[in-house]
Amino acid sequence: MSSIIRKNNDSEQNVKKRIFVSLLLCSLLFLVAIVAFAWWLVSRRAFYLNKIILTIVIAIALIFFTLLSVGLLGLIWSLWRSKEILPLQSVMRTATNVLFPLAMRIGKWFGLAEEKIKNSYIQVSNQLVRTQIKVKAYKKVMILAPHCLQWVHCPHKITINVDNCKRCGQCLIMDLINVAQKTGAHLEVVTGGTMARKVIKEYRPQAVVAIACERDLTSGIQDVEGLPVIGIINERPEGPCANTRVDLVKVEVAVRNFQKDFQPEKPV
Ligand code: SF4
Repeated sequence: MSSIIRKNNDSEQNVKKRIFVSLLLCSLLFLVAIVAFAWWLVSRRAFYLNKIILTIVIAIALIFFTLLSVGLLGLIWSLWRSKEILPLQSVMRTATNVLFPLAMRIGKWFGLAEEKIKNSYIQVSNQLVRTQIKVKAYKKVMILAPHCLQWVHCPHKITINVDNCKRCGQCLIMDLINVAQKTGAHLEVVTGGTMARKVIKEYRPQAVVAIACERDLTSGIQDVEGLPVIGIINERPEGPCANTRVDLVKVEVAVRNFQKDFQPEKPV
C-alpha cells in the first residue's frame, strides 16, 4: 500500500517538475529565436546599425545561450538520473535563475497559474538539493516555519522564542517542536523573508527545511544561494496567512534527508 502511495506521489512530483523544466526549455528556445531573427536581419542587410558591432553582440549572445543550454541539459540529466554533476552546479543554477522570469511569463501565456509554476520550480529545486546532499550528513539543520501556522487567537509570542508555545495542541507548532526535538533540528518561527534571513544569519545552519507558500518559498530559495534548502509548501484550508497547516511527515523526512543516519545525542 505504502509503495503504491509512494509511486503515485513520485508520478505526481514528476509531472510537477516537468512543467517547470518544459517552461525553461521554451524560454531558451524563445531567446534563441530572437537571436536567430537578429542574425537573419543582419545577413539580409536590413539594418542600418554597424554590422560589426551587431555581429559581436550576437556572438556574445550565442556563447551565453550555449552556457544556458549546457546548464539546462545538465539540470535535465541530473533530475532524470538523480545524480549530481558537480562541475556544472553553478551553470545549472545560473541557467535556472536567468530563465526563471521568462519561464514564468511563458507559463502565464499558456494559461498556467503562477502558483502551479512556482510549485513546479520548488519540486525541481528540492530534487536538485536531494541529489547534491546524497554523500554528506548535515548536523546543523534549521526548520524555518511561517507564523501563519500558529493558531490566530494564540496570545503567545513564538516568533520571539518558540519555547513560548504552551503546547496546548490548538495548532501544529506543538507538533513541529516535537519534530525538532526528535530530530535535533533547530526550529524558528518567522514573520517573513526579512526575519528568515536574520535567523539564518544568526544561527548559520548547514541546511534548511523551509515551510511556506509557493511565493515565499520561491523567493526564499533564490535568496539563500549556496545554502541547501528543501521547501515544503504549506496547506491553506482557511485561505492564505491564517491557521495554515503542513505535512509533518514531509518535514521530518526532509530533515532526515539532510542528516542521513545522524541522531541527536540528547533531546534539544
Ligand atoms: S500549540 Fe502553542 S502556538 Fe499553537 S495555539 Fe497552542 S500555545 Fe499557541
